[in-house]
Amino acid sequence: MTPGPIATGKKKIAFPRVADYSGVFRYWVEQCLDQTYILQPKCTHHTLEVGARYSPDSVCTPFKTALGSMIEALDLGADTLVMSHGLCRLGYYGELMEQILRDLGYQFEFVNFAAYSTGRSKDLLKGVKQLAPKMKAARFLTHVMDGVKMCAYIDDITSKYYQNCGFDPSGTYRAAFKRFLRAMDMVHSRPEIDEAYREASYAFAQAPLDKPERPLRVGVVGEFFTVMDAFSNLDLEQTLADMGVEVHRWMNVSNRIFHYPGEKNLNVEIRDLCTYEMGPTSTATIWAARKYARRGFDGLIHVKSAGCTPEIDVMPVLQTIGREEKIPILYLTYDVQTGEAGLMTRLEAFYDMLAMRKEVL
Ligand code: SF4
Repeated sequence: MTPGPIATGKKKIAFPRVADYSGVFRYWVEQCLDQTYILQPKCTHHTLEVGARYSPDSVCTPFKTALGSMIEALDLGADTLVMSHGLCRLGYYGELMEQILRDLGYQFEFVNFAAYSTGRSKDLLKGVKQLAPKMKAARFLTHVMDGVKMCAYIDDITSKYYQNCGFDPSGTYRAAFKRFLRAMDMVHSRPEIDEAYREASYAFAQAPLDKPERPLRVGVVGEFFTVMDAFSNLDLEQTLADMGVEVHRWMNVSNRIFHYPGEKNLNVEIRDLCTYEMGPTSTATIWAARKYARRGFDGLIHVKSAGCTPEIDVMPVLQTIGREEKIPILYLTYDVQTGEAGLMTRLEAFYDMLAMRKEVL
């Protein structure tokens, strides 16, 4: 008789894929909580198509992608799903997702951090304990910090990559970046995390760049999920870099979650543009857009999902920045139907305009 799979007694936990951070969630679940993580494959059109099929029309695209990703995780054997809280309607998405998935007949445990997001770490810990009731506090704390470091490394390497990969004819940047992200999905300890970072930084430093003294510089701003997630924004940053653009993006997990200066601090610099908090990423979008404009960037790209109210509210303010600082802005809205060909046409036209403008100026 063939022996069946060995029962480990561990939960099989999954979280929707978010940009390149899935390795961090996997690390936290395995190292902090001593449970199994189900790492879905990267999102594809199938993920979005399945998610959109079971989503209400009115939700924003990140909901559809996340739902598709949850379904893929359940099909891969996940028995516990985790959903984050959020400062917009994301805060309600967990409940809605759970209901949709149960209506589809899936059986699973659902840990919705929106129910624990009171702002007190004591309550947050209750959510964590639901995932791993026997969790050891010392082990948890050590490995949580490893994960925070992973985010910092991912953000640093990603930022250097998109600023320089468009000027690397040898392809060293691209190969090192891929290797680094693969390593982040597999690391098991802090020395492995540090080693992967050192290796990628070294490869970047050795790559011979063919970069003009004043390359075209574009600042990409916008909604948290769509602006960071290459699948959701149709690989916007790589496409720009391949055109020969130095691409900058302030918005990432380290800046927005772990080292966020706070709405009040950001507001000091943009008080003339916005008086009140406008949403989860709105203040940061306005602040970053003006910062790029004042640092002499050649253009800005504003990225958002269709139906994203907080970032729709930002658009009139960006128009003011564009007018006052004399900087061109391209507005991109992504939904299920957004196609690569249409995006490419708009990006090429924007690039040509920026290049001509730079020559004239
Ligand atoms: S920020 Fe916008 S796109 Fe993201 S979850 Fe909230 S409403 Fe949806």
